[in-house]
Amino acid sequence: MTRVTVRPGDIDSAAIDRAVGVLHGGGLVAFPTETVYGLGANAADGAAVARVFQAKGRPPSHPLIVHLAGAEQLGDWVAHVPAHARLLAERFWPGPLTLVLRRGGRVSLETTGGLETVAVRVPAHPVALALLSAFGGGIAAPSANRFGSVSPTTAGHVRAELDGAVDVVLDGGPCSVGVESTIVDATGEALSILRPGGVTREDLEAALGRPLAVPATSHIRVPGQHPSHYAPRARVVLVEPDKVIAEAERAQGSGHQVGVLLPPAFADAEVKAHAVVELPASMPAYARELYAFLRELDQRGCDLIVASPPAERGLGAAIANRLRRAAGPRPAM
Ligand code: AMP
Ligand code: MG
Repeated sequence: MTRVTVRPGDIDSAAIDRAVGVLHGGGLVAFPTETVYGLGANAADGAAVARVFQAKGRPPSHPLIVHLAGAEQLGDWVAHVPAHARLLAERFWPGPLTLVLRRGGRVSLETTGGLETVAVRVPAHPVALALLSAFGGGIAAPSANRFGSVSPTTAGHVRAELDGAVDVVLDGGPCSVGVESTIVDATGEALSILRPGGVTREDLEAALGRPLAVPATSHIRVPGQHPSHYAPRARVVLVEPDKVIAEAERAQGSGHQVGVLLPPAFADAEVKAHAVVELPASMPAYARELYAFLRELDQRGCDLIVASPPAERGLGAAIANRLRRAAGPRPAM
């Protein structure tokens, strides 16, 4: 199959039709969403979904999110939509919220990693929605990166990591949210957040009119819960905000090439380090840029990144979660 990239100015119905043809043929389409770029396959085609796992180097037991064009398609993919799930879908879709529900018959077991639940979401991106509407079915898509590494927020990031493994890359420009969706377990009465993301806990609780449950140690497997995930090449060290500069300079002094994610409160400070990124003060801007910052520090040759997780309020919870995973113990190479 010829491999093509379709750029933002060129995304028209012919480009969408070509991508839909690839999906029907069992191929892989990388596409933009408002969170990160997805690596998509026909969710009903087990062999196509198996190619997603292969391209990412992702263990097959880790389930994928099924993307839909609208909540009206839910009935095809899930066994039952409880009232609380319907309420959240109405309030937050299209948007960065994923609901885990009992799976319906149409979804392949490859997609759910063998689970009896399925994760579903309607993304808020015009290109993703055009693709999903034209395709008509569900698109199973994890982030379009190698398993465990930093998620892609531009088409360039996708090509850098997965070129050759993807049949079409639809380029919709940089992602506007920049961190993955919030995953909510909506299978039972007590809803809980399995992964913080683009929709905040505060917004979910306001919509539900009650607090979310603290997740029980769940039998549901979530790759984002692995100790190491979202990780750049450089090792990541997390400290309190007022210790970032001292820790960076100490590590630089002991021979590391140190990259710093500098909290905005210290923006004017001189830091003796290899590369310094001054973080934006606004959490949406930080979330939007986080993965690009990590990639940039890798590219600039840093072997150690010093950062401080933001307070876990609003979008800060998702950013802190990704930084903690990025700093998690790495598997032996
Ligand atoms: P990623 O592949 O990194 O984009 O992440 C997709 C996310 O959806 C992962 O965290 C998956 O574990 C999660 N997910 C997909 N299906 C399920 C499910 N049935 N139960 C819980 N989480 C799920
Ligand atoms: Mg991912």
